[in-house]
Amino acid sequence: MKVFSALAAIGAVLALASVGYAAGSTGSPFYGDPPDDHHPWAVHDQNRPQPKLVTPGSFGTQEQPGKPPSDAIILFDGKDLSKWEADKPGGGPTKWVVKDGAMECTPGSGYIRTKDQFGDCQLHIEWAAPKDVKGDSQGRGNSGIFLEGFCEIQVLDDYNNPTYADGFAASVYGINPPAANPLNPPGQWQVVDIVFRRPVYKGDKCLDPGYVTVFLNGVLVQDHTPLEGPGGHMKRSKAGPFPDKGPLKFQDHGNPVRFRNVWYRELPLRSVEGGTDGALSVEATAAKRKELAAMVRQDAAKLKDPANPLPELRRLMESLVYEKDEATVQKVQEMAAKYIAAVKALPADKLGSKKDDVKGLNAAFAYLVKFNVLPATFGPKVEIEKIVKDQGWDKNKK
Ligand code: MG
Repeated sequence: MKVFSALAAIGAVLALASVGYAAGSTGSPFYGDPPDDHHPWAVHDQNRPQPKLVTPGSFGTQEQPGKPPSDAIILFDGKDLSKWEADKPGGGPTKWVVKDGAMECTPGSGYIRTKDQFGDCQLHIEWAAPKDVKGDSQGRGNSGIFLEGFCEIQVLDDYNNPTYADGFAASVYGINPPAANPLNPPGQWQVVDIVFRRPVYKGDKCLDPGYVTVFLNGVLVQDHTPLEGPGGHMKRSKAGPFPDKGPLKFQDHGNPVRFRNVWYRELPLRSVEGGTDGALSVEATAAKRKELAAMVRQDAAKLKDPANPLPELRRLMESLVYEKDEATVQKVQEMAAKYIAAVKALPADKLGSKKDDVKGLNAAFAYLVKFNVLPATFGPKVEIEKIVKDQGWDKNKK
């Protein structure tokens, strides 16, 4: 009876145990370099959230605007100005007009602004200066894209129209000229794509100066240009904080400039403001690693299955990569010891069927030892390695 029970228990522990453990691009154990003081995830970490799905849009033509990506927030789709208002206290209706799928500045009516307020963004705008050329330099086809309402990316018809360099189309006005002048002739649509990252301050301390990247007609014209303040006319701009959010404004500079296909996408937080992109501070990394360890341990608990302990064991071992929690180390030791004992008790002719599982567990322990999560003398690690060697499973043969 005793023997039967012991065999039944071994059978239960090993019956279903089968986990894909092969190291490599598709799986565990744990794969690339582990988390460190500034990176909460391992290299190629399978616990890192998947990028969100976005259905891409399409490029436009002179005749037809393109289609925005699926997560874009549409500000103007050629139909109406319901998302816009006059740029004056209290807002109210604007005198800008919608004609032939475009919104057009009514000279003398004032700026127009969005009712939406937003900060960091990917912003898409198409504009066209009047086909009938009037004026020169800054007097020709002038408008402006005002980020957060006060940092101007210039709109100007400088096709065969010299002006000061830091006032060209797609200049950060008064701060930085565009790196090129890829403008289409007047009357044609010009496509502007902007990536805007406002300056981030903590009190007086600048954590990130803020940057703007601009493509004009597909040509890179502002390459991660630092925002030395918002820019402006004649005065040297000074670096400083921007608001968290503000409206997008288009300028009335006295020219009937048209706009179409205006949309933006919100951008994820930078690490300096609590986001998880790029290298994180030591404190933020430690907090995130703790959170990840807890998440993986929770997941392990869901995998609990006396008949098949390997998935839970493997997940618990994985949690140690993020946080070396002594209670978990203890549990790993106990579960692994029990599993190894069951393997060892198998008759020789049955052992071969456990080859992949045992090798996988060995590889997982090897990972944890390699990166000093567990000592090389960790009992189950030594034992599982011995089984692999004794069986010749460490050799490259089938
Ligand atoms: Mg302007």
